[in-house]
Amino acid sequence: MKRGVYPGSFDPITNGHLDIIRRAATIFDELIVAISVNSAKKPCFTMEERAEMIRQALPADTNVKVDFFTGLTVDYVEKVRANVIIRGLRAISDFEIELQMAMVNKKLKPEVETVFMMSKNDYSFLSSSIIRELASYGGCIKGFVPENVEKKLAEKFKSK
Ligand code: ADP
Repeated sequence: MKRGVYPGSFDPITNGHLDIIRRAATIFDELIVAISVNSAKKPCFTMEERAEMIRQALPADTNVKVDFFTGLTVDYVEKVRANVIIRGLRAISDFEIELQMAMVNKKLKPEVETVFMMSKNDYSFLSSSIIRELASYGGCIKGFVPENVEKKLAEKFKSK
């Protein structure tokens, strides 16, 4: 059983993340989208809200699971008996931090590989933070996030 882990904050999930998920899901028997809950910053959405948004955006018949983890990504990867971490690369600016993380993870657990997938051109400028910012000012986010996330963001910022 080939199992991959796609870790991140997903606060919230965007069409850029979903594109990586769809493509990575074809490579593995099972792909786990693992929501990291050890962020020092307070997230915009709770981990349950983030998981729900991801699940709703996935097709019914999928080999993608959604889970949470705290602590080191490599420890989580070992716990779920996977050995591949998937990361998305948008631009050269992502490269330096991703290289550092991949190297540290390699030192910690040499048997775990990090595999990078290039962002689709249409989504290479997308990040969860830009989406939150746009939504907070009432900007149009159509086409950047799935419809369920668009609704959730509208509710969130209407109540603020
Ligand atoms: P983190 O907080 O760990 O950066 P994110 O949720 O922002 O987590 O992203 C998780 C992964 O998805 C990272 O590898 C990130 O580079 C990648 N990613 C984020 N946005 C996009 C996008 N628009 N296209 C492709 N990959 C992306």
